[in-house]
Amino acid sequence: MGLIQGGAFRIFRIAGINVYLHWTWLLVAAYSVQTRVNANRPPIWAVAEYLALFGIVLLHEFGHAFACRSVGGKAERIMLWPLGGIAFVEPPPRPGAVLWSIAAGPLVNVVLVPLLFGGAVAADVAGKEVINAGASECIWTIAWINLGLLIFNLMPFYPLDGGQILQSMLWFAVGRGRSLQIAGGIGALAGAAMIAGALSFGDIFLAVIAGFLMLQAWNGVRTGKILRQMESLPRREGVHCPSCGERPVLGRVWPCERCQRPIDVFENDGVCTHCGHPAQRAICVHCGRTSPLDHTRHDKVVEAWPA
Ligand SMILES: [Zn+2]
Ligand SMILES: [Zn+2]
Ligand SMILES: [Zn+2]
Repeated sequence: MGLIQGGAFRIFRIAGINVYLHWTWLLVAAYSVQTRVNANRPPIWAVAEYLALFGIVLLHEFGHAFACRSVGGKAERIMLWPLGGIAFVEPPPRPGAVLWSIAAGPLVNVVLVPLLFGGAVAADVAGKEVINAGASECIWTIAWINLGLLIFNLMPFYPLDGGQILQSMLWFAVGRGRSLQIAGGIGALAGAAMIAGALSFGDIFLAVIAGFLMLQAWNGVRTGKILRQMESLPRREGVHCPSCGERPVLGRVWPCERCQRPIDVFENDGVCTHCGHPAQRAICVHCGRTSPLDHTRHDKVVEAWPA
């Protein structure tokens, strides 16, 4: 993982998690601070508010990342960009693990609600002689921003956290593929309604954000369809993915590592029937992780893809 990634640069690393900042964040930060500056108070408070927003979004993303790790998933990267943060989390493909990894983000904001409003009230009680009026206003603003972020994130529209929580709950009942189709469909409809609303108010910026969310939701619908097709394929008995425990699909779905023609790596000792090349690895169609196959020793095959 490089220092710079697609317009984002790494700002720090904590507990094995790299935090990246997209360069556009700086532009929006400068614009946002400028609009918050007014004649009644020094610009330092506008800067403080924006930095607090940054901190709140970061804590939210760390909530996702640590929860994902606590259930055995992968989380190595957080990116902050103008529309908020993204924690690149890969929880194990189980509905409970996904639900916890998603819910932990908004849960951070829930914990912050009493802390921030409590702090704001305490600052007011302490009085203007002790606490600077600008500082008091600043704490109130931060408390409201946190509450606003919480409410926004919990809207049940995929890909917002609320929509992903809905999806993982539906997953328990109707399976992964179908849950993604339903939650994605709701998210796409909400996105379309939001675009129409934003355009009727002439808010181009909001319309672009809504369009972005709608595309993501539609991608969810399409991924759900592919997952359902995969879920309906027959599975091989006696072999399990070492990462997620799911059985591999029965059939020629893996491209040969040399000739690229489709083979079944769990048949014929993994040797390609077209070119004779022995497969070294197999990707799990369920969780997407690749695990080694060692055909020189049968017990190693069993170790890599245990029965
Ligand atoms: Zn989140
Ligand atoms: Zn081949
Ligand atoms: Zn797997």
